[in-house]
Amino acid sequence: MNDHKKNDHVKCSVSQCQHNLVSENYCSLDCISIGTHEDNPTVPECTDCNSFVKRSGCCG
Ligand code: SF4
Repeated sequence: MNDHKKNDHVKCSVSQCQHNLVSENYCSLDCISIGTHEDNPTVPECTDCNSFVKRSGCCG
């Protein structure tokens, strides 16, 4: 997959994701899906990017 076109509207620093433009800390997807793993989210840590895909060759 080679869809690495910077989306100016979505900043992201998750360099382990295959959709991340590592050099610029932006996402390359036109649309991302955000969710939560909590019943009652109260802080940013409660939310997740469900569009995350582990970069191949990354993270061991
Ligand atoms: S898909 Fe989610 S985790 Fe991956 S670069 Fe985009 S915003 Fe970041």
